[in-house]
Amino acid sequence: MAILFASAVGSADPLTRVHHRQIHMGVQVEITAFAPDAATGDAAAQAAYARIEQLDGIMSDYRPASELMRLCAQAGGPPVAVSRDLFTVLQRALDISQRSEGAFDITVGPYVRLWRRMRRTGEMPTREEWRAAGELVGWRKVILDSERQTVRLRVPGMALDLGGIAKGYALDQGLLAMRARGVTRGLLHAGGDIAAGDAPPGRDGWRVEVAYAGPDRRWLTVANCGVSSSGDTEQVAQAGAGRYSHIIDPRWGRRRARPLVATLVAPEAPTSDGWATAAVVLGESRGTELLRTIPGVVAYIRTAD
Ligand code: AMP
Ligand code: MG
Repeated sequence: MAILFASAVGSADPLTRVHHRQIHMGVQVEITAFAPDAATGDAAAQAAYARIEQLDGIMSDYRPASELMRLCAQAGGPPVAVSRDLFTVLQRALDISQRSEGAFDITVGPYVRLWRRMRRTGEMPTREEWRAAGELVGWRKVILDSERQTVRLRVPGMALDLGGIAKGYALDQGLLAMRARGVTRGLLHAGGDIAAGDAPPGRDGWRVEVAYAGPDRRWLTVANCGVSSSGDTEQVAQAGAGRYSHIIDPRWGRRRARPLVATLVAPEAPTSDGWATAAVVLGESRGTELLRTIPGVVAYIRTAD
């Protein structure tokens, strides 16, 4: 994705544009904002980065001490009280699971581990390994109690993977952190995800380049929403004659990579992020059909020939 930076030059609004790049969550996170002065804009961007870093500490599956990993270590045990952030993301993830007929499923962690090994070694896991992993997968094995803000993972060994939704949530929260400092005209971008705030001064929205936005269209003009693209193009594990996507079909434990891209626009970035991943699993025809029924969400899904 690329952002065409609108400039404030020529506008009646004397706002200053600030632009920052930092690595968080293992990817470059780009922030563009318009603020009364550079110092205010810079401080707002730093507040956004601090918030994103905090959330990575909660939701990362690469950091053994993250709250998510500590929760998974207690799988099979009694309910565990979790932070509001983790609870909110789990709630949204399960909501998308239910609406997507299970295409989106954060319990795919054991399959993701097999996929990562397959990518490293080029060897297909055994049937027994797929079966054992499958015992630990299924979004109905995650039990949330919203009154107590607790989570129970029903089966020992379960591994949650928030890779399909955490980035959208973190970008959205970064945007809120900027808003809290009075900077409302901001845009955060990381990998395939965007959280857009109010439009740049004098504009209808932020002009962003996406993977696909309809026949022959790659540009969208957006404000106050999330935009996410997912696809099979970037990360593929090769095993024998098969090429397998990092986006997994929870029913089978793996998915053959296809030239499929999905771009989703939603009121909030965690929603666009989660649904973009789900849309890839659902495919062009079922994904387009199902997403028509989800309020506020616009889906562009395309299989290249
Ligand atoms: P994204 O780049 O947002 O499409 O997310 C892809 C990541 O989501 C993968 O690298 C996995 O960590 C995770 N993932 C893979 N398959 C699924 C799935 N079916 N549902 C939810 N998350 C998934
Ligand atoms: Mg996603």
